[in-house]
Amino acid sequence: MCHVSSITLALSKGRIFEETLPLLAAAGIVPTDDPERSRKLILGTNRPDVRLVIVRATDTPTYVQYGAADLGIAGKDVLIEHGGQGLYQPLDLGIARCRLCVATRAGFDYAAATRPGGRIRVATKYLNSAKAHFAEKGVHVDLIKLYGSMELAPLVGLADAIVDLVSSGGTLKANNLVEVEEIMPISSRLIVNQASLKLKRTLIQPVLDAFAGAVR
Ligand code: ATP
Ligand code: MG
Repeated sequence: MCHVSSITLALSKGRIFEETLPLLAAAGIVPTDDPERSRKLILGTNRPDVRLVIVRATDTPTYVQYGAADLGIAGKDVLIEHGGQGLYQPLDLGIARCRLCVATRAGFDYAAATRPGGRIRVATKYLNSAKAHFAEKGVHVDLIKLYGSMELAPLVGLADAIVDLVSSGGTLKANNLVEVEEIMPISSRLIVNQASLKLKRTLIQPVLDAFAGAVR
């Protein structure tokens, strides 16, 4: 647990950091460094009692779960894969919006492959979400774990389909893939370490309130 008179917020670089800046501003917090330019992983803010740590998006729940960060911002996709143990999730921030979906090559007969009792080979980094989705449809699924560039898998015969995040659909289109099913809408949530919330409520609650106000 970090010092009781200060709080640490875990964020990933890129869209989550960018879209969190206005929320931080609403809480009176302004980072003193830009993570895209600085190589620092611990960033100060205008407030001596608030610091930011820059982590890989998939690692955010882990830092908060263990109390190495008191707060964090993580995509629903990441939270589902992590499991959310030990995390209080008070607020959907509505940022980094996209959707988790199934995509295949344009000519693939997805309806036939996913008839009840059917079988499909799916490449994804979202094993838990994909498993739950096909189980609910009553379809046998052979899951192949990938860490990135999922779009390649159906093109070279590694899998029939992928489960991945889509926003504009530009990457799918560029690779002759089509979205055949939406699994769920995705946005990022505020996560809080449960012990931190008790021990540091006077510091954390105003941040929660400011974020909630800015989201509305
Ligand atoms: P990398 O892309 O470097 O492998 P990553 O995929 O872990 O890292 P990001 O691409 O920055 O990290 O995604 C962080 C979070 O932003 C995801 O967990 C998801 O919730 C959200 N996200 C991902 N892709 C999109 C997108 N195209 N549009 C909007 N939000 C997205
Ligand atoms: Mg990414």
